[in-house]
Amino acid sequence: MGNPKILICDDEEGIRESLKLVLGDHYNLIAVDSGDMALEVLSHSKDIKLMLLDIKMPKTNGLNTLKEIKKKFSQLKIIMVTGYKSVETAAEATRLGACGYIVKPFKSEEILETVKKNLES
Ligand SMILES: [Mg+2]
Repeated sequence: MGNPKILICDDEEGIRESLKLVLGDHYNLIAVDSGDMALEVLSHSKDIKLMLLDIKMPKTNGLNTLKEIKKKFSQLKIIMVTGYKSVETAAEATRLGACGYIVKPFKSEEILETVKKNLES
């Protein structure tokens, strides 16, 4: 048994790096910069337990990526990461199957706690 595997999907390298710094000691991480890459990784790695998904990305945005991923990997837990607080977007993400929501700039403890809580539930 290794650490649980988590997929990080964010178009900004800085965000991917901060998430890696926060989660790297506790989880086995894979980071990608687009929804297409996320789908590609998910189709090859069956043991990914949870995904952190950016909402604002240039090609396919996070909500559309969420929709696509949930169609194929309905059991995967997905936590959205966003740069601005929007009740509508949060509600839409929840409706599409996201299990949580983190607003940037985030605190390390907040991410660790949200990820841990969702992996346990
Ligand atoms: Mg982004």
